[in-house]
Amino acid sequence: MHPVYPKLFEPLDLGFTTIDNRILMGSMHTGLEDGNNHERLAAYYCERARGGVGLIVTGGYAPNIAGWVKPFAGTLASRRAAKKHKTVTDAVHDAGGKIALQILHAGRYAYHPFNVAPSKIKSPITPFKPWALSGRGVERQISAFVRCAVLAREAGYDGVEIMGSEGYLINEFLVEHTNKRTDQWGGSYENRMRFALEIVRRTRAAVGEDFIIIYRLSVIDLIPAGSSWNEVVQLAKGIEAAGATIINSGIGWHEARIPTIATSVPRAAFTWVTEKLKQEVSVPVITSNRINMPAVAEQVLADGHADMISMARPLLADPEFALKAKNNRSDEINTCIACNQACLDHTFSSKMSSCLVNPRACHETELNYLATDKKKRIAVVGAGPAGLTASMVLATRGHFVDLYDAAAEIGGQLNMAKLVPGKEEFYEMLRYFEKQIELTGVNLQLGTMVEPAMLNGYDEVIVATGVNPRNPKIPGQDNSRVLSYVDVLRHRANIGDRVVIIGAGGIGFDIAEFLMHSESSPDAQNTDLWMSAWGVTDPADARGGVVDMQFPKSLRDITLLQRSEGKLGAKLGKTTGWIHRSSLKHAGVEMRGGLSYEAISDDGVKVSLNGAGEETFPADNVILCAGQVPNRTLYDNLVDQLGANVHLIGGAHEASELDAKRAINQAARLAAAL
Ligand code: FAD
Ligand code: NAP
Ligand code: SF4
Repeated sequence: MHPVYPKLFEPLDLGFTTIDNRILMGSMHTGLEDGNNHERLAAYYCERARGGVGLIVTGGYAPNIAGWVKPFAGTLASRRAAKKHKTVTDAVHDAGGKIALQILHAGRYAYHPFNVAPSKIKSPITPFKPWALSGRGVERQISAFVRCAVLAREAGYDGVEIMGSEGYLINEFLVEHTNKRTDQWGGSYENRMRFALEIVRRTRAAVGEDFIIIYRLSVIDLIPAGSSWNEVVQLAKGIEAAGATIINSGIGWHEARIPTIATSVPRAAFTWVTEKLKQEVSVPVITSNRINMPAVAEQVLADGHADMISMARPLLADPEFALKAKNNRSDEINTCIACNQACLDHTFSSKMSSCLVNPRACHETELNYLATDKKKRIAVVGAGPAGLTASMVLATRGHFVDLYDAAAEIGGQLNMAKLVPGKEEFYEMLRYFEKQIELTGVNLQLGTMVEPAMLNGYDEVIVATGVNPRNPKIPGQDNSRVLSYVDVLRHRANIGDRVVIIGAGGIGFDIAEFLMHSESSPDAQNTDLWMSAWGVTDPADARGGVVDMQFPKSLRDITLLQRSEGKLGAKLGKTTGWIHRSSLKHAGVEMRGGLSYEAISDDGVKVSLNGAGEETFPADNVILCAGQVPNRTLYDNLVDQLGANVHLIGGAHEASELDAKRAINQAARLAAAL
């Protein structure tokens, strides 16, 4: 029995096979599934298998063209395709792992004109109206699922996951608002769930008894016309009887307007729904969403909420997650901060996925931190994410690294980010960096403002001195009520009741979020408060688990301003911007764009409304969040002195559209090459 995580490292005996532990790498679409990336996929999964995960589930593969998520999405529909997957399954098996292929039929969520659904009803999040399936068409989709599973077995997979949640095709048969059929596949619930049951029943018959079938079941739809709890239970019992080995929990349809995995969702916020289901079936059940550290996973299992834990993004962030937990090195885990910035945001922009905290994710064949045979003395100035990453990678490779920062702690701007309610995961990032600096032997010198003269004698110098707030040069901004975001977060200035924020980028939004709450208010990670704010309830009490939102009103009267026309926060993350906008709107924050700043005075902020007159927004305090400019004081003085051996990274290199993702990626790539 494992001394710290006894439940997490208890093997799961499925009768015909045993999974080493309770950690499932959940399905994630990375972009590697589309096309001929089998070598890269093999390297990506192989690292995770070597890292000790119990069972891997691949990104979704369509069983036919109609089921593509987008044109030319990964498909498994022929023996030729199955043969290519051998590269992946062999690599995982050689590394001692197990892997199942996810079969995903996108239904009406598909981004192409050949998409099909139970009825001709367009989804609110895709532009294409689906074709309604004929009776024969329904049979063809079932056969495609079955054939895909048979091919997966031929390709060497240990099982399949049948994607029955998140609002994709199978889910669309289950609820009345997407299924208006009057044949044997629509009408009563028995008819609506027939599609799901037939897929599982016929798949089991085709693949035999000794093959894992996971069915991903939507335990809480989070849409108003979603399934009732009785229906969920009826379906789960039917799926079990039809031959599923394991039931995995799906949380929310993609069209739901409730966040399910963003960083502001409390950790393990949905495991209570899986627990309800666990009481109704005898097959093992898997829970998921916002479980990102071993202690959280262990607690969920110890509380009896599930038999297994699905973690998807945490395995992008750290392929050795399981191994580190097993070897009592949890403090070395590179924790997923649930930002979506390099994974889901990339997927939704048709870019290859990676990970903000681990730029090697999905790039295992080209970004490697290899030992150097030319050890150098390297100075890194600035211990923000760019300088920390560079130092860590350089020291891992064998260089001698001195890391300097003027501040008394590492982290740079992350020390401000971590204070924003809903961004507490940044504390984990700082913990990870601190541990890595210690383990890799970087010589850290805090409280040291570096001058050029201190850098003589180094072979290379990396300048990662970050940014300074932009001066927006608004008349009257020297008024004592005008502060910057740094005064609010770092210097904890006293802020009055009426606040005007100038600039609605990521930091403007974060400052609004920070000032909406009282510092003594209950923890943003409180699941009950979070559920009530977003209107999430027990699906036994309301269909889909959705009721009216009860957002607490902002503690202060806040107005957020930007000069550009259009919606505020348009450049925030693709998959998270709507959450920030929604949260501010429900709290009563006023958001105004399309204006120019005329002056700041004791009366407040006077703006002109681009030809539609003027307006003054009264304010006890005005907070400047007008972007940032590179801090290159040190660099400008150094290049003359040291020439080509000085390197500029992070915000000091380019402040426009800077974020921690770019800072870390740039630093890692430079340090891998030096
Ligand atoms: P910095 O983090 O700015 O670090 C520079 C360091 O250099 C500082 O520690 C400074 O003390 C040191 N330094 C400067 N000059 C000297 C000198 N001469 N000698 C010694 N030391 C020196 N990004 C995201 O990706 N996602 C987010 O959700 C997010 N949220 C944010 C929220 C807030 C409130 C803020 C302020 C920022 C947020 N960011 C976020 C942005 C992110 O923090 C920055 O992009 C990132 O920190 C930039 O990294 P850096 O290493 O280039 O610089
Ligand atoms: P930003 O996103 O570039 O936003 C700057 C804001 O200031 C904009 O709203 C801009 O809008 C306004 N502005 C620009 N120049 C101005 C001027 N001269 N006078 C008045 N207003 C001006 O920068 P940021 O908010 O400082 O954030 C810095 C970086 O940190 C960003 O690149 C961001 O990616 C990152 N960050 C990310 C997150 C996240 O959640 N992912 C959170 C925080 C920060 P107008 O020009 O329309 O007025
Ligand atoms: Fe997690 Fe962010 Fe990495 Fe995605 S990009 S895996 S959310 S840390």
